[in-house]
This record gives sequence, C-alpha cells and structure tokens, in this order.
Amino acid sequence: MRYVSTRSAAPGKPFSDILLEGLSADGGLYLPESYPQVDAGTLAGWREILLSDGYAALAFEIVRLFVDDIPEADLRGILERAYSPAKFLDPAIVPVTHLSDGLWLAHLSNGPSAAFKDMAMQLLGELFEYELERRGESITILGATSGDTGSAAEYALRGKPAVRVFMLSPQGRMTPFQQAQMFSLDDPGIVNIAVEGVFDDCQDIVKEINADADFKARHRIGAVNSINFARLLAQIVYYFAAWLRVSDGEPVSFAVPSGNFGNIVSGHIAREMGLPIDRLILATNENNVLEEFFRTGGYRIRGAAETLATSSPSMDISKASNFERFVFDLLGRDPERTAELFGAQLVDGRSFDLGQTPEFQGQCERFGFVSGSSSHADRLAEIRRVFEADGVVIDPHTADGVHVARTLAVPGPVIVLETALPIKFAETIVEAIGVVPPTPARFEGIEELPRHVIDVPGTAAAVRAVIEDRMAQ
Ligand SMILES: *Cc1c(COP(=O)(O)O)cnc(C)c1O
Repeated sequence: MRYVSTRSAAPGKPFSDILLEGLSADGGLYLPESYPQVDAGTLAGWREILLSDGYAALAFEIVRLFVDDIPEADLRGILERAYSPAKFLDPAIVPVTHLSDGLWLAHLSNGPSAAFKDMAMQLLGELFEYELERRGESITILGATSGDTGSAAEYALRGKPAVRVFMLSPQGRMTPFQQAQMFSLDDPGIVNIAVEGVFDDCQDIVKEINADADFKARHRIGAVNSINFARLLAQIVYYFAAWLRVSDGEPVSFAVPSGNFGNIVSGHIAREMGLPIDRLILATNENNVLEEFFRTGGYRIRGAAETLATSSPSMDISKASNFERFVFDLLGRDPERTAELFGAQLVDGRSFDLGQTPEFQGQCERFGFVSGSSSHADRLAEIRRVFEADGVVIDPHTADGVHVARTLAVPGPVIVLETALPIKFAETIVEAIGVVPPTPARFEGIEELPRHVIDVPGTAAAVRAVIEDRMAQ
C-alpha cells in the first residue's frame, strides 16, 4: 500500500515514511492510494475475531491492510501493546452500551487520559518507537494543546527513550483535571510548558520554532498532530468494532462530535472500505464551520476572534485540519483542484463555496454525511435527559453528538461516539445535573500530586531556551 498527497500527483510513498513525515512537503495530507475493500464474509470473520480474541486482534486484521512494510509478527506486537486491556478501564477496549430510543454509545474514552484521542495516540506511540528504533533515530515532539491532545500524547509517549516531548499549554486555561493529568506525570522525557497566553499563542510559538530550520534540524523536532494518517488508521478500527457489536449486517449510522474532522474522517474511510454505515452524522457545537459546509457547501474558516469558547472546548475550532481529505475524495481525488482550494494557505476569513458544484449537490448524499449543531443549553439539557432516562453521565462533547443524533432522527440504529469521560469537564456536569461525575479509581488523588510544569512568558525565545536547556541534560 502506497500513500499519496491530496495536493500532488507525485508517486506514492510507503507507510513508514509518511508515519514520520506527518504532513507532505507540498502541504497536502497523505491518504492511501486506494481504500482496501471488505465484504460481508470478511465482516463475519472479523466479528468472530473481535468476540473471541479481542480488540487488538481485530485491529491487526484492519491495520495490516494499510501497512505492508512492517513484518506481521512485529505489527501484531505493536497492536497488542497499544490496546492492552491493562491500559483501558474495560477489557473490551471499546465497549458499546444501549441508551433509550434507539441510540447506542461507543465508549472511546476508557484509555489512559480519558479521551478518545488515546485510541489513536496509543498506536502512534508504539509505531514511532518501533520505527525510530529500526532506523536508529530519535525525535523531539513539540506540541501545543488546549487539553485532550497533550495528555493523550504524553501518556502514549512516556517511558520511550527515543522520544522527548515538549508540550505547550495556555497557563490556567485547561480544566483542573486536565492540568492534573499532564502536570502529575513524572518522566524525564516529558516536559510541560505553561505559556502565558491562550491556546492560539501556544500554537503560534510552535509554528515559529518550526519555521527555524536550523533549530528544528538540530533538535530533530517533529509532531504528533491529528493530520498524521497513522492516527486516522487507528480510529478506523473502532468504527468496525462498534458496528460488529451492534449490527447483524444491516446498516448503522454514527454520530460524531467533531472539531478538526479527524474522528469522522476515519468513519468516512471505514464507509468507503465497505462497512455498511448509513449516515455519518457530524455534530458541532456553536463553532459550526463544518455543520455549515454540509448544509450549504460553503467552507468559511474563522479567525481566533470569531471562535467561541464553549462548554465543549475540544471542539472549539475555526478551521478543520483534516477536512481537506474529505474534499479530495469529494472532488474525485483531483489533487489539482484540492491544491487550488487549500493550497494558497487558506487564511482567516477566506473561504470557498462548493454549493453549486455537481460534486457537492450529488456526492455529499452518496458519502452519507448529514450535520447539525448544538448550543450550551442543548448540551446541558441532553446531559440531564440521558442521566434521568438511563442513569448514565455523559460528557459535554458526547452530549453534542447525542443532541444532534436525536434532532436529526435518522432511521435505524445510531451509535454515538463517546469522546471523553465526564470527569474531565466536571464543572459543566455539575451545572447540568448538580452531581460531581465519578472519578475512575486510577485518577483518584491526581490533583494532589506534585506538579511538573515550567511557567514561561508567551514568547518563542522563552520556549526555545527551555528546549535548549533540557536537551543539553
Ligand atoms: C478532539 C476532541 C473532539 C473533536 O475531534 P476531532 O477529531 O477534532 O473532530 C471531540 N471531543 C473530544 C473530547 C475531543 O478531545
């Protein structure tokens, strides 16, 4: 299997190259040159494997279709380590439970940092370690987080000598639980840097440091952001696993709380592989860039000033970094047109409108997408409703998904992807139902542990100094 860029017709590359590269040099995103196909017979076999051998064994069957440059025995080991039941709160890894009125919840947040990003990051961490060791190389991950990505990356990359992590977060802006998760980690390879400013300032500093080619090369700086295809690959697996647990063969719809379009694009790929998915229900919060696209065909990215701080903060995005992949497929995989739309560095306020094109008018339907958005009040009402009807506490992001799934009322079973445990967003849960959400035993007391974090002013120079200092040790 080879991987091509969404922006050029250059020959494809092997998986292990695009794993370490992340973003293509032409600015495009990598996708497999074609999607492997499955049929009813394959699915029946995979159901047996999931039920008898578990999630990691199913993951192996799916991932091997995309990765042909890692020996199978090694790949099996990688998947067994990534999805070891010891790391997850439930041995099923992704258990699926039933809510009233035809909805199901696929629990993606049972991993080490209690958000769905663990599902991808656990695999990415193992693949990085394997590939770096094979090449005799090391890497320095420099990232910025507003909450969930940072802790998922740190829990996946700790204790891996070939990987150093410098993670920037905005001082005092994450929830107390998110801060405790990251700052309580005591690992020589993990450095938390709390930057004076907001998330955008952190991201700007990362960009500025990455633009310094000499510094970047000297410290072998790389990234683990959501545009890495390996993260999407990991996520394809749970669409299959959840479907296999709910369906006997009939189509099922998925409702996906969305921000950067990373989660739902994996559902799109699973559907293109032949998994019988009826609708892909895209749910946004008040930041509705994506909902607007699927309603109108217009994609209008917004600036920081137009991006609202909501009670489902991990979906507060103004531009969706994985969206280009879907547009590439929508336009019949035309790299020239994709480059035209995204290539001139889509900046704030710039936009494109596919509303009048035959692809948008005919094809969106064929790709199964529908969309909706929710507000703070909708979210609170949904948390309350699910708690009262089913005795289950859901987090605010999951509530966005449940809300949109209920409002659109597509026929047939709908699986809502649960993207975080409610304890991560306790304040909103208390506002909704007056109850502090349960803390899983593994997280008890983390808010009292010593904090490992370096406070710096909001400048690239200050961050660079921390990196220099730590790399010299
Ligand atoms: C990251 C995140 C999302 C959004 O997922 P995307 O892949 O960015 O669309 C939703 N919910 C939670 C809890 C998240 O951490």
